[in-house]
Amino acid sequence: MKKILLLVTAGLLILGFFALDLNHYLTLEGMKASLGHFEAQRAASPVGVGLAFFVVYVVATALSFPGATLLTLAAGALFGLSMGTIIVSFASSIGATLAFLASRYVLRDAIQRRFGDRLKAVNEGMAKDGAMYLFTLRLVPVFPFFLVNLLMGLTPIRTLSYYWVSQVGMLAATLVYVNAGTQLAQITSLSGIVSPGLLLSFALLGVFPMLAKKFMQFLQSRRVYAKWQRPQNFDRNLVVIGGGAAGLVTSYIAAAVKAKVTLVEAHKMGGDCLNYGCVPSKALIKSARIAHQMRHAESYGLTAADPQFSFSKVMARVHAVIAAVAPHDSVARYTGLGVEVLEGYAHIVDPWTVEIKLNSGTTQRLTTRSIVIAAGARPFVPPLPGLDDVGYVTSDTLWDEFAKLDAPPARLVVLGGGPIGCELAQSFARLGSQVTQIEMAPRIMIREDVEVSDLARDALTRDGIDVLTGHKALRCEREGARKFIVVAHQGQERRIEFDALLCAVGRVARLQGYGLEKLGIPTQRTVAVNDYLETLYPNIFAAGDVAGPYQFTHTASHMAWYAAVNALFGDFKKFKVDYSVVPWATFIEPEVARVGLNEQDAKEKNIPYEVTRYGVDDLDRAIADGTAHGFVKVLTVPGKDRILGVTIVGEHAGDLLAEFVLAMKHGLGLNKILGTIHTYPTLSEANKYVAGEWKRAHAPQKVLAWLGRYHAWRRG
Ligand SMILES: Cc1cc2nc3c(=O)[nH]c(=O)nc-3n(C[C@H](O)[C@H](O)[C@H](O)COP(=O)(O)OP(=O)(O)OC[C@H]3O[C@@H](n4cnc5c(N)ncnc54)[C@H](O)[C@@H]3O)c2cc1C
Repeated sequence: MKKILLLVTAGLLILGFFALDLNHYLTLEGMKASLGHFEAQRAASPVGVGLAFFVVYVVATALSFPGATLLTLAAGALFGLSMGTIIVSFASSIGATLAFLASRYVLRDAIQRRFGDRLKAVNEGMAKDGAMYLFTLRLVPVFPFFLVNLLMGLTPIRTLSYYWVSQVGMLAATLVYVNAGTQLAQITSLSGIVSPGLLLSFALLGVFPMLAKKFMQFLQSRRVYAKWQRPQNFDRNLVVIGGGAAGLVTSYIAAAVKAKVTLVEAHKMGGDCLNYGCVPSKALIKSARIAHQMRHAESYGLTAADPQFSFSKVMARVHAVIAAVAPHDSVARYTGLGVEVLEGYAHIVDPWTVEIKLNSGTTQRLTTRSIVIAAGARPFVPPLPGLDDVGYVTSDTLWDEFAKLDAPPARLVVLGGGPIGCELAQSFARLGSQVTQIEMAPRIMIREDVEVSDLARDALTRDGIDVLTGHKALRCEREGARKFIVVAHQGQERRIEFDALLCAVGRVARLQGYGLEKLGIPTQRTVAVNDYLETLYPNIFAAGDVAGPYQFTHTASHMAWYAAVNALFGDFKKFKVDYSVVPWATFIEPEVARVGLNEQDAKEKNIPYEVTRYGVDDLDRAIADGTAHGFVKVLTVPGKDRILGVTIVGEHAGDLLAEFVLAMKHGLGLNKILGTIHTYPTLSEANKYVAGEWKRAHAPQKVLAWLGRYHAWRRG
């Protein structure tokens, strides 16, 4: 009730303000026109007018009226630099604190109740560094004054801190604006307009936010770097830790712009993608797919055959594919590009020094202006009792361990229902393993919509996989040579015997052992970075899996561009990493590919959307290929053709998605896709047909009815 009363009072005051046409004083023309009148009054009663101005300023800021800047200029014009600054400094701080309290009283409880979980990090940050954040916002007046008051009211910052930090933080800007106001008052003639004083004041107004920002950056970096001794000069412009996708692209860019860059790789150039991830998994998927097609050749009019093969040859091919791709990521190639590559383990000693234990046995220290951490991630191994005893493989060890086998494991347990678990489970099932896939969540590929998970599950089941969702792995047991995993489902325990167990329950960033702890670089499952990919130390960056939030090769390379450019040129211009259009694919059959929102994301984020879908079973090329299953599902802004997200399930979904990725990135809608010629007969026509479905659903019915009448009339 009290809150409603407060809102009504504020509403009435605002209404009254506009009803009495007081807002015309808060325009430059209105202010200038009435300046003479107020000047005369101030001369007659300086204290009275000063007090009245003070009260007006407090009320205007407390009610978040627009025009605080003009009032500040007016203070300079009316009261001069010293008195004007004193009046504005106190009035603006009191007004801001009143607006802050009102927002806190009316909105904070409701907002914290509704978004408490998501605001947890903000609340913790504010409790720790709230005064500093506020000081920055006050000193660098790029955010609207009233917005800072309203938003800060929602955070746990203390009122007294709010008041004094605001007053101190705003002082410099107040001085600059009041000073500009004093100059305004001096304009009596045309020549006054270009007086040096006025020009200087307005130049100050323009550059002040930039100077203030630089000052804040200087203060913050002094705080962070205080306990370290900065070298006089540097051996390198950039040292990059890790030679996976993120590290390779970072050092490539650095070398291309002629920076002196050293890339340190502890293990294998190319990182996880080349050696344990994308490349071997896709090579295995291909062999498994051919085996599958042989078994189902009758659907193409051929005689089906049980594929006869040597598993060790399949694994040898996997290694041959790695070897064929390896030159792209090799020491020789990068050396040729101008990167110094050191094979060894890097350790960050201080913000500008990296120590490298070279594989040759010696140690080298390099000083560097900037560092990019691209140390990647490793498979997470759950702490299951008995797991070590029964033995297991991960994506790191599988390729070498299984290469020793003559046949795929007869009974394989795959722990994990994410993309990696699904891809490998399907491949081994198709190569002849009896696969049991265990997932704790109620469905596999949980990030995708339910219908996608269901389709994926059906496909895996058709390949003979026993997909156990909602099953929690409890422990592993060994009886002589026999190995078991015990799982719980709806209160019942079940023992599953296996020959090999593959752990694919997720990947965790590499955070230990190379200096993050000593430097106090914060981590929260990944290295904490800001929008520029800077860690706590603005000259140390992180990119790729080690920084998240995505774990893909293409996002690692994408981040690498920002890390390299910000590390080398950040003193001039920094770029915020852009995650607005991130695609990905899971290479099971049928392939699943997505960019942007799916339905579950849109619902969770309360984003209104429309769905348009096209079934691939209708597509000529898919019918001819015998791959007529799956769909293209597009989410658009209601009533508009702007694409919010796309999910494609079907043959070559990952490739088909590219057209939508381009469209989203460059703001092209479904009408543009519909107006583009797609080659017949290709799978890509599905993209055009889904756009056609959208168009049909949005056809202007009234216009069409009139057109019908027009044609009838023409027929006579
Ligand atoms: C089975 C599997 C399949 C995958 N399939 C796909 C896919 O189809 N598409 C896709 O986009 N992504 C896929 N991924 C994910 C992809 O592999 C990763 O996202 C990508 O490799 C991340 O690159 P990165 O540079 O961040 O890290 P990494 O490739 O892990 O490279 C990090 C490197 O840093 C080195 N390093 C770490 N610490 C140090 C140190 N202190 N000193 C020196 N060197 C150090 C490591 O040795 C490593 O080589 C897959 C992953 C797996 C496991």
